[in-house]
Amino acid sequence: MNENLLAPAWLTKPKDVNAIATGIWPKSLRRDSEGHIEVGGVAVGDLVAQFGSPLYILDKKEFFERAEQIIAAFSSAAQSHGTQSKIYYASKAFLSTEVVRWVDQLGMNIDVSSGGELAVALAGGIAPSRIGLHGNNKSHSEIGRAVSAGVGVIVIDSDIEIERIASAAGAQDRIQPVRLRVNSGVHAHTHEYLATAREDQKFGIAMADVPSLVEKIRSHKHLQFLGLHSHIGSQIFAVEGFVEAAKRLVSLQAEILKGGPVPEMNLGGGFGVAYTPADNPLAIEEVAAAITDAVASECAKYGIPIPVLAYEPGRAIVGPAGITIYNVGTTKDVLVGEDADVRKYVSIDGGMSDNARPALYSADYSVLLASRESEAIPALSRVVGKHCESGDIVVRDAYLPEDVAPNDLVVVATTGAYCFSLASNYNYLARAAVVAVEDCKADLIVRSETEEDLLSRDLKVSK
Ligand SMILES: *Cc1c(COP(=O)(O)O)cnc(C)c1O
Repeated sequence: MNENLLAPAWLTKPKDVNAIATGIWPKSLRRDSEGHIEVGGVAVGDLVAQFGSPLYILDKKEFFERAEQIIAAFSSAAQSHGTQSKIYYASKAFLSTEVVRWVDQLGMNIDVSSGGELAVALAGGIAPSRIGLHGNNKSHSEIGRAVSAGVGVIVIDSDIEIERIASAAGAQDRIQPVRLRVNSGVHAHTHEYLATAREDQKFGIAMADVPSLVEKIRSHKHLQFLGLHSHIGSQIFAVEGFVEAAKRLVSLQAEILKGGPVPEMNLGGGFGVAYTPADNPLAIEEVAAAITDAVASECAKYGIPIPVLAYEPGRAIVGPAGITIYNVGTTKDVLVGEDADVRKYVSIDGGMSDNARPALYSADYSVLLASRESEAIPALSRVVGKHCESGDIVVRDAYLPEDVAPNDLVVVATTGAYCFSLASNYNYLARAAVVAVEDCKADLIVRSETEEDLLSRDLKVSK
């Protein structure tokens, strides 16, 4: 049979189009004896019958196991060099009060980057001392709220914020711990919009300005300087970028230690996960060891103590713990190019409003027919949404069975991070619900929106 020339080089045609690729789906995801996909012991068809479609599903056990693995990896790497690690869950990847409770149970800290995220974290009941506040433009009221709530740390992102935070802390007669975010200039190997530490971007303080700003922080009696912070980007596979950023931070650490204590160093998040079989992330243990070894050997070089090492993984914890289920509405075969290769367009009942990443970053995803097994041959397919944009793509390239048809259910992998949190109401689609599954039980943690919700802010609805 001729190869479909529309298929990208990384995508291999599966021998069995019903097979579940390894390393992409939650470990509990499997086909039951009738060929239906189940996750956490619950058939996805039953979840749709109960909670509707599209539907985000979080595998609670997968979330916990991934978090525990990351905590253990960084902790044992730190301990092998006689120091300690601290993990902050980067809540912008996925945040709801239930997930805050999971973070709390796991003993993690939590990062928020707006007043809204802070409100959800506080509503989830985690101790304020375990919250870190980020952002390059925190408002006076966000800072005031964070200080009065007693958040554990605020990460300073500009000179202006030093005064802003000091005066809020002074007004409330509190001492606010702070970090200083550094723009290390490291270019992470990832999509341009995800790379946050090259010089020409909005986050952090230029290396050259760090010592004087640390001095300024230290001059304020209502601020307590905890250490430097670096976050070089997201969905990063190569450890070299993290290592290089860590080395640059240690050189600054040596300098600023001359003026006072620097107990911690925060090296951010950004650890990549597999979205398709072409993605091969390093084991987190290897990443943790490489970063920690680099910090330790640089510290030895400068003759300084190794600080407590903090990290902020979001995607690596929640991304692969989430899947999205959709109902197929229409399909059509489109002939493309001179060779008239066929691309099957499979339209589903969601799209860029529940998963903006393909439109934002050309992100790739993996998909399976979930409601049945099929004997049909694999057909090169594109899973598209129902929005009025041709860029409204959910899975750009994947093989689905040739007979995929209306009312089939499909599941998309690795949608736990940056899908729910980036969801919109474009075309006035109601945002999807989130259900957590574990041990054959389903727990609705965020309900879907209703048409009433969609109209609720419109003050000119005629009565
Ligand atoms: C987004 C973000 C993270 C988390 O990134 P992931 O790729 O989800 O691990 C961590 N720290 C900061 C400052 C961030 O902005």
